[in-house]
Amino acid sequence: MKYILIALIFCSLFSCKTLQKTTTNLNSVKWISGSENCKENKDPLIQVVRYNENTFILRQNKCTNYEAPFLYLFLGDKKALLMDTGATEDSVKFPLYSTVKNIISQWEKNTKNSIDLIVAHTHAHGDHIAGDGQFKNKIRTEIVGLNVSDVSAYFDLKNWPLQNGQIDLGNRIVEIIPIPGHQLASIAVYDYATKILLSGDSFYPGRLYIRDWTANKLSMQRLVDFASAHKVSYFLGNHIEMTNTSGKDYSTGTTYQPAEHILPLTFKDLKELNNALKMAGNTPKYEVHNSFIISPK
Ligand SMILES: [Zn+2]
Ligand SMILES: [Zn+2]
Repeated sequence: MKYILIALIFCSLFSCKTLQKTTTNLNSVKWISGSENCKENKDPLIQVVRYNENTFILRQNKCTNYEAPFLYLFLGDKKALLMDTGATEDSVKFPLYSTVKNIISQWEKNTKNSIDLIVAHTHAHGDHIAGDGQFKNKIRTEIVGLNVSDVSAYFDLKNWPLQNGQIDLGNRIVEIIPIPGHQLASIAVYDYATKILLSGDSFYPGRLYIRDWTANKLSMQRLVDFASAHKVSYFLGNHIEMTNTSGKDYSTGTTYQPAEHILPLTFKDLKELNNALKMAGNTPKYEVHNSFIISPK
């Protein structure tokens, strides 16, 4: 304990690479996952997990909204990027702006830097954009629009969905990969610093609802191609609906998931999804896999 304390004091005075570079093992994080009786739920409204000094993962409380989406915050030297704003508008039930603001203020204090905030979305479904209003008319804050044209313009995505775009947060490049299929404006996000690949609702441990079968099939192939060419530390989506028993999911709307699947999926899972989509050809097919369920809409 004494040595950790000395190290922490040393690290706050000088830059200490080893301690600051510690990352959280996302395969063993215990997420808040609701309660049998929500009236007795004592969990925070938003759980904040620090992945490293400039990367944070937030989860909304299931008792506020059963979708309990995950949200991601990446901080660069000039800009912070928040991916998604959750499933609830109300800043009392879901204090997203103040939570994000606190993280940024703390970071600004530590780094003696001041940064702008970009609020963008993995896609335009209600459970990913409901908190947008909390960020409106706030200083140094920009909200990216929800349509394909808004997303393309902001991230300079030419020839949607075939070409990727990049954004520089200040010594931190993030790649934007269009993956329509679950929703028209779905994107994946790859962070070159942490090598985290976010895949929104298109690939996560749950029911993969596919609206546009053909577009989704092409998108998943492009995601496989991208992941083959880049090192990926974690494949992360925006929900957990699977249990930790292979092929078994929780029912839609449940507010209690005591034995959830872990948040990360693997490249093996992504290739399994891609192969299943290819095998099904042009006919949308419902299929239960160990860590996800293909659910055509
Ligand atoms: Zn969705
Ligand atoms: Zn969703």
